[in-house]
Amino acid sequence: MLKATFPLGRIAGVQVAAHWSALVTVALFAWVLGVYLSGTGSTATVWITAIAGAIALVACLLAHELAHSLVARRDGVQVQGITLWLLGGVSELSGEPRDARSDLRIALAGPGTSLLLAAVAGTAAMLTALVSPDSTLTAALGWLAIVNAVLAVFNLLPGAPLDGGRVLRAIIWWRTGDRLRAETHAARSGQILGFALGALGFAEFIAIGHLGGVWLMLLGWFLYTAAHTELVLSGLRHRLGDTRIREVMTPNPLAIPADWPIPALLASDAVHTRHRVFPVTDRTGHPIAVLAWSDVAALPESARHTTRVDDIARRLPPGAIAGPDERLADVAARAVLRPNLDALAVADPAGPLLGIVTATDLVLACNRSALGLPIPYSPKNSR
Ligand SMILES: [Zn+2]
Repeated sequence: MLKATFPLGRIAGVQVAAHWSALVTVALFAWVLGVYLSGTGSTATVWITAIAGAIALVACLLAHELAHSLVARRDGVQVQGITLWLLGGVSELSGEPRDARSDLRIALAGPGTSLLLAAVAGTAAMLTALVSPDSTLTAALGWLAIVNAVLAVFNLLPGAPLDGGRVLRAIIWWRTGDRLRAETHAARSGQILGFALGALGFAEFIAIGHLGGVWLMLLGWFLYTAAHTELVLSGLRHRLGDTRIREVMTPNPLAIPADWPIPALLASDAVHTRHRVFPVTDRTGHPIAVLAWSDVAALPESARHTTRVDDIARRLPPGAIAGPDERLADVAARAVLRPNLDALAVADPAGPLLGIVTATDLVLACNRSALGLPIPYSPKNSR
């Protein structure tokens, strides 16, 4: 989902990474907590506690996401990993819960964990208060308890992609047996929620000039767009059904070796094709990047002789490499394909390139499904 992330390691077998914007979050939390704690101790004590508290809060956010991921994995849903970023954490699940109960369990695991952490921090605050009620530590623990509780409640607001939206989806799914309808309702509700939060933030900013309003506007905008994406994707899943990558891919596409200089590319067979985007492979033939003609065209002519394909090719994120037997809908849900710019590479892990799927292939599959035609199309013999 996010580019420019750096891996932090594995926790209980789940890959954890952070986007650079997570540092902004830590700094912001430290600042808010530092201001909250001012006057409870010496300046040094206050700011060291504030930084420790901010890191503890990020760890709490991570625990929230980890709970989602671990319950998902136990229920047989594939977990790609967790990414920490500006607005907290995101669990990337590459599968779907098989039934409404599992959906509900995965959704509730996160807020449940946040509430538990709020209770733990609250209890710790009460215990330290027995010794020194006005200490910096007591205040920081109290703050952690409150923020975790607020996070749990906020996440339970009933709109996708918030956990409350997943709860809503699970309940509608369970009552109607209609997953698409449940997803659509949860996503619409997320759009309304996002719009309302954004409007609230705007009003707050205009009326009292409070900077928190900007934060709320950002959050509202994020929610709205994420809910919109979910709406599109749930339609996609409905349309594409059980179609496998193998059925829509272009097999054995022309691949470009990563170490080619640009002049070699311009003298190759690539220029005699109608394709606009090409897979780029490493020495073993495994796909690692994509290159579009527009990437080459953006290069100044004078730089062509000193540039290699892998200098300008765009690296494939793990989600854009798919196995031939994966469901097209699952892959389409995790990879964003821009027309004439991106492509999915089809390959087994560390195996050679087997095919590619472009945005055009995806649109064609959706159109054929809407028309009631079989999705895998077979060219008619020209004779
Ligand atoms: Zn959550």
